[in-house]
Amino acid sequence: MSAAEKLVLIVGGGLAGLACAVRLHAAGVRPLIFEGSDGVGGRVRTDPLDGFLLDRGFQVFLDAYPEACELLDKKSLDLRAFRPGALIHQTSGMERVMDVFREPRHLLESALSPVGSFADKLRVAGLRLRLMGRTTQEIAVHEDMTTESYLQRAGFSAAMIDGFFRSFYGGIFLERELQTSSRMFEFTFKMFSQGRATLPAKGMGEIPRQLASRLSPAAIRLGAPVTQIQPGGIVLQSGEKFQGDAVVVATDATTAAELVPAAGAVGAVWRSVKCLYFAANRSPLGEAIIALDGTGAGLVNNVCVPSDLAPEYAPRGQALVSVSVLGSVDPDDLEARVLAELEGWFGRQVREWRHLRTYRIERALPRQSPGTGFTGPGFREQAGVYLCGDHNWSASIEGAIHSGLRTADAIVRFFK
Ligand SMILES: Cc1cc2nc3c(=O)[nH]c(=O)nc-3n(C[C@H](O)[C@H](O)[C@H](O)COP(=O)(O)OP(=O)(O)OC[C@H]3O[C@@H](n4cnc5c(N)ncnc54)[C@H](O)[C@@H]3O)c2cc1C
Repeated sequence: MSAAEKLVLIVGGGLAGLACAVRLHAAGVRPLIFEGSDGVGGRVRTDPLDGFLLDRGFQVFLDAYPEACELLDKKSLDLRAFRPGALIHQTSGMERVMDVFREPRHLLESALSPVGSFADKLRVAGLRLRLMGRTTQEIAVHEDMTTESYLQRAGFSAAMIDGFFRSFYGGIFLERELQTSSRMFEFTFKMFSQGRATLPAKGMGEIPRQLASRLSPAAIRLGAPVTQIQPGGIVLQSGEKFQGDAVVVATDATTAAELVPAAGAVGAVWRSVKCLYFAANRSPLGEAIIALDGTGAGLVNNVCVPSDLAPEYAPRGQALVSVSVLGSVDPDDLEARVLAELEGWFGRQVREWRHLRTYRIERALPRQSPGTGFTGPGFREQAGVYLCGDHNWSASIEGAIHSGLRTADAIVRFFK
């Protein structure tokens, strides 16, 4: 039988499932996605609300991601970049730390900023040089430890780790303790050094939308939760059954472990985050930059204004403020406490802000302990059932796409 007559059933229409389907389709294999929710994208979706665009949790697309960039048409995503650096809220006020390789005019200001010592800044430059010269494959086999140990071993001062790395990488790993694998740290540090942190002008949801547009509408069934995987087939919650030539489970780690216990998928321990959106009459930052909490004292970890990058994120004359609170802590008066805290950052203008919506994302990122990421082929296989998704490589957009593509490649090889 030729590849063209083969049918692959894919459970989950997140980035991994979509990437897998697009690659299969290109190879002449018929993919059929069953997505449990009402839309594609999984953890990368955008909701319109009263003229605002609300990403389901603040996240960025790093435009140096190698496989994602090869797969996606970056031009039509109309990517808008954050400035390379950050504003750090300290008890003494806002300090600016810029990537001086990209914005050399900030060399003096960044060197003199009280966030870390001058020696720390030289260490950042050295790390940048080292990691830019290292391939992802080299990083994948490099000694692994917690990011905290890695930074200590690299000689960074406690002030630099506490005042910068905990909040900057806290916003990426969704944990300030820096217990995430140092391989993940090295990979993201390299990506930030080589490229830019961006948002598509019309929201992060444009990324899955673009992939879905490459498939025929009949290849995606929405509102179709799968409850059972059987040899060569699946069963939907509705009771409907489907048979195919291979089955791909492209769900999150916990669901994968429930659906395919025999494949040895590890049900993840999750990193959680809350993302609060506010409408403001003007941007409290006034530039495309991420502001971080450098005190470690409050609820807020990071703040940005997506409409400063892409005016499409807010109606004309208004600004969209995005605020991230890490972890599971969730007081009843969360919005009021966050606003009170941000008055300390931005002053009385915060009193005029209007709360739009809060996203509580319990399963945001699987915990990536040392030794768990960047290992294996990027998927698992058990009797014709392939497990794919970010938990099989790295918890990121790149990791999900990498996993989806490797899964499709393996299936095509198998069919041939
Ligand atoms: C708040 C937040 C911030 C992040 N920040 C970044 C960032 O800045 N940069 C970055 O690169 N990455 C970031 N990430 C990580 C990135 O978004 C994920 O790693 C990636 O999207 C995971 O894709 P996936 O396809 O593996 O899984 P998912 O997106 O979880 O997709 C799985 C899909 O399977 C579906 N599904 C589940 N169970 C079933 C079932 N039984 N039947 C049918 N369908 C089912 C789900 O509805 C979902 O659509 C962030 C994630 C979050 C949530």
